[in-house]
This record gives sequence, C-alpha cells and structure tokens, in this order.
Amino acid sequence: MSRVLVIGAGGVSRVVVHKLAQNTDVFTAIMVASRTRSKCDAIACDIQKRYGVTISTAQVDADKVAELVSLFKAFNPQLVINVALPYQDLTIMDACLEAGVHYLDTANYEPRDEAHFEYSWQWAYQDRFKQAGLTAILGCGFDPGVTGVFTAYAAKHHFDEIHYLDIVDCNAGDHHHAFATNFNPEINIREITQEGKYWESGLWRVIPPLSVHRPIHYPEIGNRESYLLYHEELESLVKHFPTLKRARFWMTFGQEYLTHLRVIQNIGMARIDEIDYNGQKIVPIQFLQAVLPNPQDLGANYTGETSIGCRIAGVKDGVSKTYYIYNNCSHEAAYRETGAQGVSYTTGVPAMTGAYMLLTGQWSGAGVFNVEEFNPDPFLAKLAESGLPWHQIIDGDLEL
Ligand code: NDP
Repeated sequence: MSRVLVIGAGGVSRVVVHKLAQNTDVFTAIMVASRTRSKCDAIACDIQKRYGVTISTAQVDADKVAELVSLFKAFNPQLVINVALPYQDLTIMDACLEAGVHYLDTANYEPRDEAHFEYSWQWAYQDRFKQAGLTAILGCGFDPGVTGVFTAYAAKHHFDEIHYLDIVDCNAGDHHHAFATNFNPEINIREITQEGKYWESGLWRVIPPLSVHRPIHYPEIGNRESYLLYHEELESLVKHFPTLKRARFWMTFGQEYLTHLRVIQNIGMARIDEIDYNGQKIVPIQFLQAVLPNPQDLGANYTGETSIGCRIAGVKDGVSKTYYIYNNCSHEAAYRETGAQGVSYTTGVPAMTGAYMLLTGQWSGAGVFNVEEFNPDPFLAKLAESGLPWHQIIDGDLEL
C-alpha cells in the first residue's frame, strides 16, 4: 500500500503515470501535480480510459517549497517522483525533507543561469536525508539511470575490475520534423552545446563541443555517427567504480540536427541570459522552446528505435574480457502503449522501476544515492518485464 506523487506533466510524466497505473498492487494511490493542471488532467483522463485507474491531480509551482510542502502534507505520499525540470530538484528535495517523504528524480540539478550540471548540489543533502531516515534516488531515468545499473550489473556479475566504460546512446528514430528535440528543448540544447568532457587516467579531459566523433555500430540499426559528450552519470560512475581508467559517453546526431543547432547558436537563440525585447525581458532559448515542436507531440509520427547501452572492458579471473549490455526501444511501440515517444518511454519506465524498488523494500537506505549503489538484479528483472528488455554480448568487439 503506497501513495506516490509525480511532479511534472510532460512526456516523461505521461509514461511514469502509465507505468504506475499498471502496478496498482504496489502504487495504490497516485497523484500527478504540475504547473499547468490541465496537462495533469489530460494524463489522468487517458489513464482512466485505458486502465480504469483514478489518478488525482493538482496544480503546484515546484519552485516554491511552501506550496510543495502543503501539497505533500495534504496527499501524504511515501514517495515523490520528480519529472519536472532539473531546476526544481533542490526545492523538491527541501520539501521532501520538511514533509518526511522519499525522493526520486531522473536528471541532476542545474542552476537556471548556468548551463552546468554536477551532483555536488544534491550530494550536499546526504546528511539531511540520512538524519531524516529518508531515501533520495538520483538520476533514475535511462541515462542517467539504467546506464548506471547496467554498469553495476557488469561489475557484479562479469568482472573483478572494470577498466574502460563507453556509454553509447543512439536515437535512430525519425519524427519527420526538420528540427525538434526529444525532451525539454531548453534542457536538451544546454546539454549538447556545452564542452565535451571524459574521464581518463584520473583526470577530466575537456574538449570543444561535438569535436570528437566517429561511427559506431548499433544492434538492429547499423552505423551511426556518434559524438563524445559530457553526461552527468560519468561523475557518479567514476566515483563509485574507482577502477575505471577511462569513462566516456557517446550520442548520435544526424547532420540535419547539427546544422540547425549550429544556426540556432550562431544567431544567439541558444543564449540562456536575459535580453531586452520591446521593453520586456526574455531568455532566447526559452522563446525558442515556445516555437519548436513540443516533444510530447512527436510520438504520433515517430518511427524507428533507440539503442542505449554500456560497452565495458576489464578483467575477470586475471583474463581480459569485454561486455556490452543494451536495450533497443521502438518509438511506435512506446506510442501505442502510452501515447509518448521512445525517449520519454526509456526515461519513464526506469523511474517507475526505481519507485517500485524503493516501495517494495528491494532498494533501501537512508541518504542520497545514485542508482549504481543499489543491487542491480531486481531492478533489471523488473525493467525487462515493464517494457525495456535488455541484451548482452560477452567478449564481442567493442569498437571503442
Ligand atoms: P517536459 O518539458 O515535457 O515536462 C516538464 C514538466 O515539468 C512540464 O509539465 C512542466 O510544466 C513542468 N514544470 C516545469 N517547471 C515547473 C514548476 N516550476 N512547477 C511545476 N511543474 C513544472 O520535459 P520531459 O517530460 O521531456 O522531461 C522531464 C524530465 O526528465 C527533465 O528533467 C529531463 O531532464 C528528464 N529526462 C531525463 C532523461 C534520462 O534518461 N535520465 C531523458 C529525458 C529527460 P508545464 O507543462 O506547465 O510547462
């Protein structure tokens, strides 16, 4: 018997709420609350039609701790799943501490005025969550999220020491728009336009944005040009797996996407500072978001699939070994099931799975945790039965 509150009503929230509603043996009361209540009502209405499950809805400004606390006290959840934006992570964590509620999110905190992500702000909550006897699970989407669990699974079952980690993220889908982002455009463009960074021999190596790339072969998809990016799970993985000599993250982009991105940057539309427009303050990237396709509306015509996994090399019983663990997810199948495309699906299913682990007691502990700190086995079993089956290739060619 567990009450769970989801904050945010975007594409990821839609999938999370669908998956919660498919597991009412554990999630016995579900609420979705966000800035715009009509979006929560639309999700609730869809769920009622598909599963006959009633979802409560509410309006909340998640930038305001007091509003959150009074909502938490009124609904009285055991767990809050934060799938609003990374800007709200700290206010929601503050409210969880005040109301005595566990916390889970899918993206680490970012300050609004700095395109910069790192775990320090959220790791600083460690003592407060510990003292309160509460659990905070950070980064429980796909990447970050499943990629950390995949790494933990590899380290537990296949290696004595892992030395090289390459996380490879391919979206081979086609949404039939000239340019659109697969999740919140502001967060997505901030992530991609920052400097690349990877871990090697105990140091972070910094490279100009998108300057290192190469074709990588993805299962069922083929070769796709893949770009070395900084991605937040690298920070926690090199901390929790100190045997890593190198850790990198690769993501595919098409030429059309990169051309649009370059133009957007060159004309100043990726700026995150305020400018004066006809006497009104606007942030160019937020204005851009208002005219771009809404990621939630991409699903209907999205074809193709995503493929995300971890390619790992290390030693087992004194012998060198390679291991590749991955999931492929079809955009069409995700849309048929939930009304959302594959990128929202691959984020929302792991968020529900993490919530399921916590509320069934299979993941527990007081404090702030990254997903790779927990037992990967029950998570990966539940993930596979919840729509994201995974595959492994042992001693194949990692290419990288
Ligand atoms: P959307 O932009 O579609 O949805 C965000 C939702 O948050 C919207 O409903 C929005 O409200 C709501 N929101 C924003 N600000 C506030 C606020 N102050 N108070 C209350 N609600 C607010 O994003 P996505 O669904 O695509 O992504 C959700 C999260 O998932 C993001 O943090 C993203 O970074 C993360 N993510 C993680 C991935 C992973 O693999 N780990 C991959 C993809 C995404 P409104 O509707 O009014 O705008």
